[in-house]
Amino acid sequence: MKTEVEIYDTTLRDGSQGEGINFSVADKLRIAERIDAFGIHYVEGGFPGANPKDIEFFQQAKRRKFKFSRLAAFGATRRKHVAVEDDEQVRLLLEAETPVVTIVGKTWLLHVREVLRATAEENLAMIGDTVRYLKDHGKYVIYDAEHSFDGFSDEPEYAMATWQAAEKAGAEFVVLCDTNGGRLPNEIARITALARGRLNTRIGIHTHDDIGLGVANALAGLEAGAVQVQGTINGYGERTGNCNLTSVIPNVALKLKKTCVPPASLAKLKELSQFVDEIANVRHNPRLPWVGSAAFSHKGGQHVNAVQKIARSYEHVDPSSVGNKRTVLISDLAGKSNIVMKAQELGFKINNDTPELKSILARIKDLEHQGYEYEAAEGSLALLIRKILKHQEAPFNVVAYHVSMRRDGMESVVEATVKVRVGDKVAHTVAEGDGPVNALDSALRGALTQFYPRVRKVRLTDYKVRILDSATGTAAKTRVLIQSTDGSQEWGTVGVNDNIIEASLQALVDSMEFTLLKK
Ligand SMILES: [Zn+2]
Repeated sequence: MKTEVEIYDTTLRDGSQGEGINFSVADKLRIAERIDAFGIHYVEGGFPGANPKDIEFFQQAKRRKFKFSRLAAFGATRRKHVAVEDDEQVRLLLEAETPVVTIVGKTWLLHVREVLRATAEENLAMIGDTVRYLKDHGKYVIYDAEHSFDGFSDEPEYAMATWQAAEKAGAEFVVLCDTNGGRLPNEIARITALARGRLNTRIGIHTHDDIGLGVANALAGLEAGAVQVQGTINGYGERTGNCNLTSVIPNVALKLKKTCVPPASLAKLKELSQFVDEIANVRHNPRLPWVGSAAFSHKGGQHVNAVQKIARSYEHVDPSSVGNKRTVLISDLAGKSNIVMKAQELGFKINNDTPELKSILARIKDLEHQGYEYEAAEGSLALLIRKILKHQEAPFNVVAYHVSMRRDGMESVVEATVKVRVGDKVAHTVAEGDGPVNALDSALRGALTQFYPRVRKVRLTDYKVRILDSATGTAAKTRVLIQSTDGSQEWGTVGVNDNIIEASLQALVDSMEFTLLKK
């Protein structure tokens, strides 16, 4: 089947310009391999002329086999008044030994004159010379026309002349770039259509998200005749980021209904998005369209009721089409349907007629009134439902605990003691920690390990404290949310108390209990 829209990934180059994003060579190789396995047409590895780390990336990438993606090196047109064969940066591009080379050049006369300080003619020669030279060396050349839309709006004929210079020199693609990210979809569509009418070379679109229209602008370009779209995974990039490929890809496939990535890959989109965040050490954004954990979550009782009956009534697509899933949020808006769906999601056999449902609902409402919150604490919620449904004994009880802190010279030392009862046996453990919660966690786990060795695998991944306004006007309450993992599953638990240590212990105890009760 012919691909109607080619996807060009620049996460490793444009995306790495984003605040807080810093990839090592090993990170870049892992991401490139993952993108290749997913089935994206081009992977831009970096800018060898500007970055020694990128030179090393290309040296290592040379030795790897990519099954699907074609690797691209990124560079600029030759410097002014320098023969292209004498340009150091162009030489480094050839040395990267990639099948594809992407060259950025100037479209906007303002930039040519004021930034480059070159003549209009010299800029055209720089574009033509560089593209032709790379073509003569056997490269597949993509020409990225910087500031296409700003340049065209100022001097349309000159902008067109720069694109034609790239076309005449043999570029495979002329990619129109909204470099400053400030144009509107109708402008993108109009100018792309005009370029399409005047060029025979295929057209691509590269947009930025400065006014929140990166994806909309890319789609406008595609609808006006572009057949390649450039962007980054999760929208990484300078300022507010690049056009987000994790939105563009499903929009092209499911909304424009054009072929782009292999159909089987679409269901792995969320996985790809999470993988790249993990390598970048960025917390996954729950509000990301399509792939965020909240993208298909339902809160209001009526919504949930309807989704239960016909998913289509409140969902624009089936979440599994992009590898995501439907989640139900619990809140004091919650009706019976929310609880039933959430309980089913957690693995309980329950329906609208289960007699215990009423007491579960009443208990949740009561606890929410006290300041508990279950949206991010499904571990605590599961324990609460289980207690009412099954009347089970807790696997352990904390009989007593003690936390102390002292300062020893420059160092502060925190110590916790926990006494735990399991059946008729008691364990008593002391541990030190970086802070009271860390010390309590170590002591509790130490005591439990004697009965349940598998708690050793559990560790805390996040700890959040929120001070709640007290309705009674006395001491303010503290809500503690912790996130735990055993390596294969993550769960959240919650504790609420006037005392932050007590609230933390509740959340810790729930976390351990949850791991012991799950199968
Ligand atoms: Zn860019």
